[in-house]
Amino acid sequence: MDIPVSLVTGAAKGIGLEVVRQLAQRGHYVLLAARNADRGQAAAQQLSASGHVQFLPLDVTSPSSIEQAQQKVRQEFGRLDMLINNAAILLDHYQKPSETSVQQLQETLQTNVMAVHAMIQAFTPLLKASAAPRIINVSSGAGQLSGMQGSVWAPAYQISKTAVNAVTRVWATELSESNIAVNSVCPGWCRTEMGGEGAPRSPEEGAAGIVWLATEAAHQLTSRFFRDREEIAW
Ligand code: NDP
Repeated sequence: MDIPVSLVTGAAKGIGLEVVRQLAQRGHYVLLAARNADRGQAAAQQLSASGHVQFLPLDVTSPSSIEQAQQKVRQEFGRLDMLINNAAILLDHYQKPSETSVQQLQETLQTNVMAVHAMIQAFTPLLKASAAPRIINVSSGAGQLSGMQGSVWAPAYQISKTAVNAVTRVWATELSESNIAVNSVCPGWCRTEMGGEGAPRSPEEGAAGIVWLATEAAHQLTSRFFRDREEIAW
């Protein structure tokens, strides 16, 4: 396979689906990873006119599902060029910290943080086989510590996005030796199931900054946090 191979998690809808479409249009072979097989297959079928899109079953909170996905990519492609950790959940919208349960926090961290760590760990050997590998963690301005005071609106989600930024930085340090760029990116507030109908951006606009980081940003940029192609504060 002489075109870039990209994997996008949580890609059957929302921003992830749009990232798949835009990467396929740019000539990538895109693995549309989703936990729901029916929706994942339907989404891949729908995007097949945009380019090479293949459904990959993947529940990012399941170690065996990650292992199976990794084996499939290894057998079929022998490498991975882009890992885009997009899947996430938001369980405590408009709650105060005093209203967010430990269970909500645990569940949120499991998907938004631990799963990202597990995905990077599992796919690093395949990324090392790429000439210009990149890992992109889809984060959020909601996790920026600098803007958090006085703006509490989803505590577990905010904590998880701060933590995924830390995942970006610790991995970026280790993987710089292997020339793997690792960055966080905020898509901005978008009209998806998570963002709601009142959001100012379309999923297309949100996906554009992620796709830029995957395709156009200089490869030496690593351990950074971006929105709209510009670096932002952690
Ligand atoms: P959506 O809720 O529309 O989509 C989230 C996706 O993640 C769904 O496809 C969902 O799958 C998937 N997912 C959740 N849990 C798992 C799991 N265990 N395994 C596999 N897939 C899973 O969200 P968005 O598209 O809006 O968000 C995409 C990313 O952008 C997220 O990281 C989010 O935090 C970030 N973001 C979004 C903003 C916005 O305004 N929308 C703003 C800032 C950041 P399923 O359909 O099966 O539930």
